[in-house]
Amino acid sequence: MPSGASGEPSEPLLQVRDLAIDLVGKKNRALPVVSGASFEIPRGAVTGLFGESGCGKTTLALALMGLLAPRYRARGSVRLNGGEILNCAERQLETLRGAQIALIFQDPMLALNPVLRVRSQLAEAMRTKAGVEDTLRRAGLEPSARILDAYPHQLSGGERQRVLIALALARRPALVIADEPFTALDSARVSELSSLFRGLSASLGTAFLLIDHSPAALARSVDDALVMYAGRIVERGPAGAVMTAPLHPYTAALLKCVGGHGKPLPTIQGNPPGLAGRPPGCAFHPRCERREPCCAREEPAEYMVEGRRAVRCFRYAG
Ligand code: SF4
Repeated sequence: MPSGASGEPSEPLLQVRDLAIDLVGKKNRALPVVSGASFEIPRGAVTGLFGESGCGKTTLALALMGLLAPRYRARGSVRLNGGEILNCAERQLETLRGAQIALIFQDPMLALNPVLRVRSQLAEAMRTKAGVEDTLRRAGLEPSARILDAYPHQLSGGERQRVLIALALARRPALVIADEPFTALDSARVSELSSLFRGLSASLGTAFLLIDHSPAALARSVDDALVMYAGRIVERGPAGAVMTAPLHPYTAALLKCVGGHGKPLPTIQGNPPGLAGRPPGCAFHPRCERREPCCAREEPAEYMVEGRRAVRCFRYAG
């Protein structure tokens, strides 16, 4: 448990406050990748983090894991089980990773050890040979000898992904982050995998943060939704409300992209800005059909709207 942790069951599992992450380049020039991100993940809940490529989702996930490369600088607060984990010592982070918080990387081939059989990788992660079969089963993979004795390259893409999920679950962490696990899956497989995460949160009490481009395919699988654009969380709240009555014009546009899973978003004009080219004012204004003159000049704050919903758009100011 992190230092200073209280771990009161009533408090959220993860509390992120004003998290900002800069990419520091030559001459110490800092480019903001993530700005002012604040959200919570309740214990045992499934939260979706949505947005187009390059909006900062993966950088945010890596910051939560303490895995940012040295050229990134993070500030703000990330509390896990009541204890601060942002920028804490690597030795402390090593005790948290796997035991309390785990990450399912996007590419199983890069994340798995190519020279270790599945059985050995799982036993190493679990620090025991007992229960390896059960962990694989929980991840939705029948622990046959073919699977257990295989090296990663001998498995199909789907099997490798399940092994990666089993590795993340190995030490029963309280929070598992899955970085774009649905990319390149057809809609039947998306539904199968999201049901697996849903079932694991119910049976093990594990919280999940599922990262994906589009919220449409996961509408029924997540409890809460976070929508990110150009490094900002532009809308957050209970998934049912966000999905059925989106407040932010970007969320509304994303939701119209049904069938665009893993593909460009055909219903939103233009492209998200690059890191060095984020426009002044509301970063979405060049693409927003509802923009007003003030949107190009000033950046909207985050406005609380009815209960747990929050949105960064002038249309909800005051
Ligand atoms: S602040 Fe303006 S530009 Fe930004 S989303 Fe709202 S209406 Fe559109």
